[in-house]
Amino acid sequence: MVREQCPVCSASDIEELIVLDDYPFAGNGVVRADVAKKVPTGTLSVGVCRVCSTLFQMDPISMDDLDAMLQRQPYPLTQAETGMEVAETDRFLEAFRKYAPPQGKVLDVGCGTGSLMNTLKKLGYEVSGVEANPKAVEVAKKQGFDVVEGRFEEGMFPDETFDIIVTRSVLDHAIEPSTLLATMENILKPGGILACEVPNISRVFRRSAFGGFNHHHLMYWTTPTLRYALTYQGLDLLGGFEESYIAMFGQKADKGEDAIEPVPPTDVDIDQAFEDVDRFLERKDRLAEELPAELEKHCPNGVVVLGAGTPTVDMLYYTGMEEMVNKVTTTDKTRVGGVLGGYDFEIAQMDFDKHDTEAVLVSSERRQEELLEHLESYLDHGGRVIRFRPGIEMI
Ligand SMILES: [Zn+2]
Repeated sequence: MVREQCPVCSASDIEELIVLDDYPFAGNGVVRADVAKKVPTGTLSVGVCRVCSTLFQMDPISMDDLDAMLQRQPYPLTQAETGMEVAETDRFLEAFRKYAPPQGKVLDVGCGTGSLMNTLKKLGYEVSGVEANPKAVEVAKKQGFDVVEGRFEEGMFPDETFDIIVTRSVLDHAIEPSTLLATMENILKPGGILACEVPNISRVFRRSAFGGFNHHHLMYWTTPTLRYALTYQGLDLLGGFEESYIAMFGQKADKGEDAIEPVPPTDVDIDQAFEDVDRFLERKDRLAEELPAELEKHCPNGVVVLGAGTPTVDMLYYTGMEEMVNKVTTTDKTRVGGVLGGYDFEIAQMDFDKHDTEAVLVSSERRQEELLEHLESYLDHGGRVIRFRPGIEMI
């Protein structure tokens, strides 16, 4: 299905921005190496709405393929394995305490193995969940949680059942986010709270060299577009925060004269979004051209890439650098670079020997300084390190 309309505002003024061919249909680095070689590939195309600036996959995979892909993720996953940092969860809980009532019935849509449900239960809430991954459901049920197995959809719960709905890292996997939000709004009691959290693509565009796009991220949210989507469903915005994730808390408003007016992104928001995208594409194109040439010049025998998450995969596919990479390695064995299906993977410690490792490319964005510290002894022994943020730098 190729989108002809924006999934948030239904405008048909949409445009294709980024196209990656032969891109692996895999999760964010959490597909295990032993199954990685069976991962199929396909074109990944990101589009933008010229009216509301929402970003989305132009040709999203089917719900069945999406379920199959998400179900390839091994469970139980720890928090780090899902890509969520502990600090992000703490921040989310801080906001939760601020905007949600101190007790009541909570539904966690996309509850995974139940780590958030555990925390909320301890805080005194009556919690239950929905989860599509049967392995995760099993783990959550073993802890005594009431979890409905399956894709969250209309008719799963009676209207006006819950005081609070939490949904983290779900709206970014939605083919029809408006339908999903409307269904959540229906099962909230009047005055109930929706607490949602999604990865923040603006931050990627502003800071990163490569984006971490992948087939199971069907929506790429920014604060203005998420705000628009929530208010469009009649939710009154209470607040939230924006870092590498965006958290937003909305309240189901009374219908009638107090009906909520949707808050569309302003012209300034939209200009900003397009500027960010343009700068990102420019940076990405420049690196795609310069990085392989630099590597060929300085390390003709190939390079070890440190980092195995989606930005790394994105970089390799975008630059066509797959051939120059000897090995992808990571300090986190759960992110074994399974997304690079078809290559040989090796989980290595940070003890590179300069005799068999000519150069190390530090791909991780977020942990760059920390990783460089770990590489000090390798550098002391004459090893070479390349990083590409903000520009390509040989150390
Ligand atoms: Zn739109």
